[in-house]
Amino acid sequence: MFDYLIVGAGFAGSVLAERLANGSDKKILICDKRLHIAGNAYDFYNDEGILIHKYGPHIFHTNSAEVFDYLSNFTEWRSYEHRVLASVDGMLVPMPINLDTINKLYGLNLTAFEVEKFFESLAEKRDQIRTSEDVVVSKVGRELYEKFFKNYTRKQWGLDPSELDASVTARVPTRTNRDDRYFTDSLQAMPKHGYTRMFEKMLDNPNIKIMLNCDYRAIINQISFKEMIYTGPVDAFFDYRYGKLPYRSLEFKHESHDTERFQSAPVVNYPNEQAYTRITEFKYLTGQEHKKTSVVYEFPKAEGDPYYPIPRKENADIYAKYKVLAEARSDVHFVGRLATYKYYNMDQIVAQALMTYGKIVGMKRKEATIKTKPLEKSLVTTTILNNVSVASSKSASQTS
Ligand SMILES: Cc1cc2nc3c(=O)[nH]c(=O)nc-3n(C[C@H](O)[C@H](O)[C@H](O)COP(=O)(O)OP(=O)(O)OC[C@H]3O[C@@H](n4cnc5c(N)ncnc54)[C@H](O)[C@@H]3O)c2cc1C
Repeated sequence: MFDYLIVGAGFAGSVLAERLANGSDKKILICDKRLHIAGNAYDFYNDEGILIHKYGPHIFHTNSAEVFDYLSNFTEWRSYEHRVLASVDGMLVPMPINLDTINKLYGLNLTAFEVEKFFESLAEKRDQIRTSEDVVVSKVGRELYEKFFKNYTRKQWGLDPSELDASVTARVPTRTNRDDRYFTDSLQAMPKHGYTRMFEKMLDNPNIKIMLNCDYRAIINQISFKEMIYTGPVDAFFDYRYGKLPYRSLEFKHESHDTERFQSAPVVNYPNEQAYTRITEFKYLTGQEHKKTSVVYEFPKAEGDPYYPIPRKENADIYAKYKVLAEARSDVHFVGRLATYKYYNMDQIVAQALMTYGKIVGMKRKEATIKTKPLEKSLVTTTILNNVSVASSKSASQTS
């Protein structure tokens, strides 16, 4: 008998598995329908021997020392500040828009004070900021909106910014200084040996059994457990009773090149002409030295794996109905970005999972995250239950 069946071995499921096993001595079965642990943060060494992120670039950044300290139990860090350039009008300029972006784009030599006036002169007044278009046009005007945001957002979301909640573009700041970091969080770093290695350490406990390539529906009637933690899509859990929650998906095109460097920044955004939105070169992120290099192109699409919940009022209304159903299930905890239908960064999901653990065991979050040294045992247990195909996380991390 397991104390918990955990559905999904991404951040939400794995943090809860770790805490319940190491912090409360519970017996856990964690399953994932993918062939590997680590959810969307999964990374692995490709055929060239280069560490790449299967589901697009994952950059860790947080303002929460608590989350950072917690994860530091399972990884060392490599200091890394992310930088992005955008390809606009045949030039590569810093993104988010800053003083250098404007000076380069318009051949000017403005100071920070002057660029503030420049933005003010372009900004269009809006009585109400409702949509993503309103956010940008009211800050920097229509021309910069069209160069940097309009087509990018259309490609990324399949919707015009005027049809999307303000929250989408509100995430991207505009700066009057020369700060070209993509994020400004106080803690920015990458797991030194990659995300998958960090997850392997999290799940390294004899009380945690892992089943991969396993949809929970295939085993739910064949195992016994007391409670469930569900980190999959909430609409699927309730058999789409109120309809499908819309997601935006991505197709990743991975390539390797016979050169040490492919591009002049970790990420180059392509807001306009190309069908892809951005190209990421992984060696910048990981710091790996290698004679070759690997990149990934992202092509947004409507169908496929659910990546980004689409932030529109009608979708929030559908989710609100599922939320009522979820809250009525006292035997199931719904945690993570798919189960709560909201885009969260990794650190926010770790915080959410730690909070859930605290609630389950009746502790405040701070107490719940107290460092417990993971048990020093063999890497990850392999389990075979009722002929469902299972792999250990060690071998999974070596698979592409
Ligand atoms: C392209 C992209 C780039 C991102 N970049 C960043 C970044 O740079 N920085 C950052 O902080 N965040 C980033 N994120 C967000 C980050 O991926 C999420 O915060 C994180 O993955 C959420 O963890 P999770 O456990 O909630 O979900 P997931 O990682 O998606 O894990 C859920 C798991 O549940 C499994 N599952 C679903 N249904 C079932 C089922 N029926 N049976 C068994 N298993 C099931 C899935 O296979 C999946 O592995 C990015 C997201 C995307 C899509």
